[in-house]
Amino acid sequence: MVAGNWKMNQQLAVGKALVKAILAQEYPLKSHQEVVFAPPFIHLPEVADLIHQKENHFLSAQNCHQESSGAYTGEVSADMLKSTQVDYVILGHSERRQYFNEGPALLAQKVDTALAAGLKVIFCVGESLELRETGQHNDYVGKQVADSLFHLPNEAFAHLVLAYEPIWAIGTGKTASKEQAQAMHAHIRQVVATAKGAEVADTLPILYGGSVKPDNAIELFAQADVDGGLIGGASLKADDFVAIIKAMS
Ligand code: PEP
Repeated sequence: MVAGNWKMNQQLAVGKALVKAILAQEYPLKSHQEVVFAPPFIHLPEVADLIHQKENHFLSAQNCHQESSGAYTGEVSADMLKSTQVDYVILGHSERRQYFNEGPALLAQKVDTALAAGLKVIFCVGESLELRETGQHNDYVGKQVADSLFHLPNEAFAHLVLAYEPIWAIGTGKTASKEQAQAMHAHIRQVVATAKGAEVADTLPILYGGSVKPDNAIELFAQADVDGGLIGGASLKADDFVAIIKAMS
């Protein structure tokens, strides 16, 4: 999977033009490969039809509320997203954890609500530079996975995608080396295998995110446990995003 997280970027007309510019390009996908667009909420109903016209193309939100409805002014529910033909929701992004104080228990609740609404979840984990430099990254990321996901029954994992996004690599131009990415992805898979069994772990897609660009995507995606990428900045440029999609093949 290659998923583009636009974050809080692009006015509506620009966003629509970006989707059209990407979809107009040729990039054959294998049957198991997916391209996912995660624009801001207001774009979702506007681009859903365009995106779904192309096979293996899906739409994602960047967040949802933990309750399915109610008096939560300004919020958007998982059910509303589903009714807008949204397929996925990104949860646990480090920017949500950092700027909106989203912790493991709240994220577990959001995961439950999203899955109950019939959405799939792209669940993000990743350590700070300090945790990596002090050698605590494996334990920290393993715990992030366990704390918000291990209450789920094994069947739910068919509706999950994990994204390993080291915070020090997001939007910084610094990328984890292919060895660092592979080591962490293998660790995450092992943590999942221990709790949920090898079958769940082996079929769980684990994306890498953090300054993926056309010139580093091929070597990252070539790693045994890297199943694609969650792309921030480069998903806002049609040619770069398409080059990254092509790197899957
Ligand atoms: C992200 O925020 O999910 C991300 C990976 O951003 P960037 O590619 O810009 O580092």
